[in-house]
Amino acid sequence: MNLILLGPPGAGKGTQAERLVEAFGLVQLSTGDMLRAEVKSGSELGQTAQKIMDAGELVPDDLIISMISNQIDQHSDAKGVILDGFPRTTAQAEALDEMLSDKDLTMDFVIQLEVSEDTIVERISGRYSCAKCGAGYHDTFSQPAVEGTCDKCGSTEFSRRSDDNPEAVRSRLGAYRDQTAPILPFYTDKGVLQSVDGMGGMEEVFDQIKEIVAGG
Ligand code: ADP
Ligand code: ADP
Ligand code: ZN
Repeated sequence: MNLILLGPPGAGKGTQAERLVEAFGLVQLSTGDMLRAEVKSGSELGQTAQKIMDAGELVPDDLIISMISNQIDQHSDAKGVILDGFPRTTAQAEALDEMLSDKDLTMDFVIQLEVSEDTIVERISGRYSCAKCGAGYHDTFSQPAVEGTCDKCGSTEFSRRSDDNPEAVRSRLGAYRDQTAPILPFYTDKGVLQSVDGMGGMEEVFDQIKEIVAGG
């Protein structure tokens, strides 16, 4: 089972992907996480990506497309993949289609998380994650059970993203509106787009996703 999680920055894609990984044994392929790993490693790609990411703009399609293609190949034995943060442009959506048919794979579900702009800003401004395992948290909505200790791995180190600041968020929202939202009709026309109300609590949203996945 392969699926795409679509939605604006901060909508809850990573949060829901974490749950899907646990419940269905799928592999999460987050292009944002991959790029942040490249930045951390100091690779050439990381150096190119960093400035673009900090400005809240999109990294060039060709770099992203080859990165995701490699990752899909590397996980060919997995039960399925969750694409989180990809595709984000029409060119990426078209390249994905071609890639899937070359690799003899299908995309079973394209799930859009719908949230208001106020909620996006609220979610992004409180977002942080475990520095060791990447588990996601929120200052108000999702604190670890034991203060200052990651539920998943016990680490006491956490980090915040440098692009989760008001200026970069504005620019990322603009990129979503101008470059990513236009791919929604591409999937509507194929008859595979399903929308989920992303405004509820994390478990409420997950219940809607499970229903879609079970129904397919
Ligand atoms: P969010 O979780 O807030 O949606 P991501 O972690 O997915 O953000 O992405 C962070 C940044 O990485 C983006 O603002 C962009 O610069 C870059 N990026 C991630 N995925 C892509 C993609 N598919 N195409 C172009 N740039 C991307
Ligand atoms: P995305 O991957 O789409 O950028 P995240 O999954 O990182 O979004 O979520 C952004 C922030 O909002 C995180 O701090 C997360 O804990 C929180 N969050 C995610 N989903 C919900 C929800 N349904 N209700 C409240 N907070 C949420
Ligand atoms: Zn952790």
